[in-house]
Parts: sequence; structure tokens; C-alpha cells
Amino acid sequence: MFQPDFKECPICGEKLVKKYNTPEKTVITLNGKLICWERVLKCRNKNCRGNSMSFHSAEFKGLTLEGLTFGIDVLALEGALRFEDNKTIDEILAGLSEHGIHTNGATVSKHLDKYLALISGYHKEKIEEIRQGLAKQGGYVLQIDGTVSVKTKTLYIFRDNISGTVLYAALAGDEKDDVKPLVQYVCDTFGIPLGVISDMQDAIIGSVAEAFPGVPHQYCQYHFLKNVGNAILKEKHQQLGTMIRNKEVKKEIVKVQKEVEVKKKMTG
Ligand SMILES: [Zn+2]
Repeated sequence: MFQPDFKECPICGEKLVKKYNTPEKTVITLNGKLICWERVLKCRNKNCRGNSMSFHSAEFKGLTLEGLTFGIDVLALEGALRFEDNKTIDEILAGLSEHGIHTNGATVSKHLDKYLALISGYHKEKIEEIRQGLAKQGGYVLQIDGTVSVKTKTLYIFRDNISGTVLYAALAGDEKDDVKPLVQYVCDTFGIPLGVISDMQDAIIGSVAEAFPGVPHQYCQYHFLKNVGNAILKEKHQQLGTMIRNKEVKKEIVKVQKEVEVKKKMTG
């Protein structure tokens, strides 16, 4: 079960409360089949526009694209095999079966189309429509996913966490100079978000601070856990997640992390 990363409303600071639970959904990833669902939250303050909004788990939203049963990591692997290694569909199918994924050529072709559309900014003709949608819902919460690597580059996906809409996607390096223009593009195109959720990579922290000064930036719990220890078994992962939630240590860690970042900058 996934829960939103924000516990308090990014607009008024009141507690977020349950809005609804999503039905169970199966997502096939490179690491196996995930059966998951999500608890969607809203602001409990009836006078706040966050009361009619839906706050989502960045991890859940980041797993896949709308209408797909396969994870974004599978799409990225297919894209890399096809467009960087020039593999045929049959070779891609063989590559997938190494990860225990058995599918067919038509599905892979569909994924490759989605992948190409994603990295070529397929939404360009829809920007105005997306802008109006964001304005209508009263703003957006920017979610930055930069965890899927395609060979030497990272696939960055920028979404509105409230509606789940993909705002922008691009392949880029991991340095601030690589990430900053992407964040700036999102800022120029869609305006300042109500809040940001990311895995707090150095490059993202710096870019967000410059593009959106003063906007709350929340650490995605999933990425936090992933960074803490990839080697930890899944069960331990979940226990740790529950412990962290119960003991509210996350807030403390984020605070410490921010202090470390500041010190790092000061000491150059
Ligand atoms: Zn609120």
C-alpha cells in the first residue's frame, strides 16, 4: 500500500486525511510483479482548495504510465535495447525474459511507441490544455522521478502529482547542469508548483531551489528507503517504512539532510 509523501497540505499546512483508496493494480517491473494500491489524501481544511485536491504517492504514480501494466523501468530497458543497442524485437523479448518477463512483440512495439513519445515531449501540442487543467484544479504538485537509467543517461519524468499528468520527460545526465534546464523548462511552461516531491538527488535539490525558491520540497519515501539500502530485503524495507512512519523520524532526517547540504555548500 502506498501513501502520499506529503502529510500536511502544501497550501495551508493542515493535516491531510483519507479521500479514497484505489483498487488493487498489478504492475510488472524488472524486479518482479507488484500488486499494489494507494491511499489518496486530501486536505482536511474545508476552506482550503486542497480540500478538493487529491494528493498521491509519488512512488505509486512513478511506477508506470497511465494505462500500462508494465513498469517504467521495463519501458526504459526496451527503449535502450531498441534505440541504443539496435536490437530487434525478438532480441528485446529475449532480453526481457532474462528478467522473468514474458510478453509478445505487439506489446513491445506499443511500449517502444510510448517510450519514444515520452522522450520526445509528446505532450507539446497539449501544453495549453494541461495548463488550463492545472489552473482549474488550483495549482500543481511537481513530482520529479529520476531513478530509471537508460545506459549512461537518466530518464527524468516530471508529473503533476495531483492529476498524474506527465508534464515533461527527457533523457539527461546526473549533474546539476543537466537537470537545471529541465526544471527551468517546467517552471517556464507550467509556473511555480505548490510543492515538489523528488528523491532529493544533489542535482535536483539545487535546480529546484533555484527555479522554485521557497517552495516546499518533500523527500519521496520510496527513494529514501531505496537509497538507504538497496540490499535490504523487501520485508525489511516495509518494516523500516512502517517504523519510520510511526516514529516520524523522516522529518528529522530531512532536517539533518538539509543541514548537511548547507554545510557542504559552506565548506565548498
Ligand atoms: Zn489545505
